[in-house]
Amino acid sequence: MTQEASTPKKSNPIVPFLKLPENYPDQEGYLWGVKCPQCGAKFLGARTACANCGSTGPFEEQKFGGEGEIYVFSVVHQTVPGLEAPYVAAIIDLDDGVTVRANVYGLDATKPGPDWFGKKVKMFTEKVRVDREGNDIVAAKFRVTNGK
Ligand SMILES: [Zn+2]
Repeated sequence: MTQEASTPKKSNPIVPFLKLPENYPDQEGYLWGVKCPQCGAKFLGARTACANCGSTGPFEEQKFGGEGEIYVFSVVHQTVPGLEAPYVAAIIDLDDGVTVRANVYGLDATKPGPDWFGKKVKMFTEKVRVDREGNDIVAAKFRVTNGK
């Protein structure tokens, strides 16, 4: 019996700064990063040096909340097979002070408007595909919330 055959199917994040708890999807995944002990700058994912002040840490791991607002966006009309177009790609300012690039759902991609800037969004996770070992690959996405 090979190692692969006895390994249970897992859910793996598509990006290193998305963390999926042991009991995912019962418990939702979250974005994480570090905070610079010197200047307080926050970054998604692991860091060996601060891009703001050059400090080399030690950096403390931080769990970020999944809420923020749209900073800039673009409507993507061309995509790979299996993905629906058009869709909305955005840079999102999280309430925690970090920015993340992700797709936003809940907006009519055929009617983009200036009122989309600053729209409140909330993160959710979704399986985007299955890897060769049969594990789910999970991505962080955002959807608009009703709060303005
Ligand atoms: Zn710093």
